[in-house]
Amino acid sequence: MKDFDYIIIGGGCAGLSLAYELDINNKFENKNLAIIDPRTNYNRDKTWSFWRVSPHNFEDCVIKSWNNFSINITNKTNYVSCGKSPYQSIDSGLFYKKTISRLKKNKNINFLKTMNDLDVSKSIIFNSLMNIKPDKKDLWQHFGGVEIEVDKKIFDSEIINLMDFDCDQKNSVHFFYTLPYSENKALVETTWLSNMMDDTEKNYDDQLKNYIKNQLKIKNYKILYEEQGKIPLFHTSSIIKKNEISIGTAGGMTRLSTGYTFLNIQDHSRYICKNFGNIDKIKKFKIKKKYKYLDKIFLKVLSKYPERMPEIFYNMFTANNEKVIKFLSNKSNIVDDINIILKMPKAIFIKELF
Ligand SMILES: Cc1cc2nc3c(=O)[nH]c(=O)nc-3n(C[C@H](O)[C@H](O)[C@H](O)COP(=O)(O)OP(=O)(O)OC[C@H]3O[C@@H](n4cnc5c(N)ncnc54)[C@H](O)[C@@H]3O)c2cc1C
Repeated sequence: MKDFDYIIIGGGCAGLSLAYELDINNKFENKNLAIIDPRTNYNRDKTWSFWRVSPHNFEDCVIKSWNNFSINITNKTNYVSCGKSPYQSIDSGLFYKKTISRLKKNKNINFLKTMNDLDVSKSIIFNSLMNIKPDKKDLWQHFGGVEIEVDKKIFDSEIINLMDFDCDQKNSVHFFYTLPYSENKALVETTWLSNMMDDTEKNYDDQLKNYIKNQLKIKNYKILYEEQGKIPLFHTSSIIKKNEISIGTAGGMTRLSTGYTFLNIQDHSRYICKNFGNIDKIKKFKIKKKYKYLDKIFLKVLSKYPERMPEIFYNMFTANNEKVIKFLSNKSNIVDDINIILKMPKAIFIKELF
């Protein structure tokens, strides 16, 4: 039986971000770490995007940054600038390459496929595995996307389309998302906020084909990359043992109203690094309670009145967008919060509050 001082279960975004943060701060000079993941390949499988409200270790994995975005509902478009907190997209393939090649150079860091043969009784464990008990009422953000290349210059590469609600909503909330990496290359995603009970929402390929042809007016294109995924917009309970700390989505790092997780994972990694010596004894790092509370009400409204959501999202970005970005990225102050709350339709939000 082998034993390690530290074990990270899941070498994905959270596990590798944490190991990287600890390694660059020399935490494994006299301690050893095992990273457990059954994966056989680390090709690009996700595109992590966010407003860059705080620094992170992965600037060199950024595909592109934008200072402008738009949101549209039928017949109306809102153009928003975000120069103070640019919107960035990270290529997970580059992230895996950077983190793994650095970590493999440290002889005290071991990559293992299973926990078999490990004595974990004296280890501190960072666990990124989710423990989800399916419930019909749970809300998910689920999506499919393609990165396409066109032979003409048709995209404005300076502005992303964050949410295009001018599409079939069924009884859910649905939008398209377009990230133009250059004038002839873009990631286009179809995204749903729903309980995933309607299977027709999941035919992402048809939705994307239709949108690219009829809305973007592109006839010929090549698909360079595809991704699909689902992000739980509810707490994923994990079995917590005394020597175990949850990280990543399993550790509550997903902002429930938006699905944004990447920068929270980086904040969590820094917190663990700063308190590494006594991390099993101190207060758990959490997204602030006020966001949990406000997100809960927001998601209640979303479940009950999905048809109102395009307008609610659209109106949210109509004034002082820096405040909205800070709010959605957990960096707002009380004035920012009040500003957002005042933009919500009062009657339905107050009703859900009680
Ligand atoms: C397709 C996709 C796109 C996303 N885009 C964004 C975005 O744009 N912005 C944003 O902020 N967030 C985004 N998210 C949400 C979130 O940032 C990601 O899900 C992120 O990868 C979460 O990190 P994690 O470490 O918790 O999970 P993961 O990155 O999924 O890592 C979990 C790891 O556990 C491993 N594993 C599985 N089973 C076992 C086992 N039995 N033992 C050991 N290891 C195991 C897996 O192989 C995986 O490597 C996206 C999510 C998805 C799915």
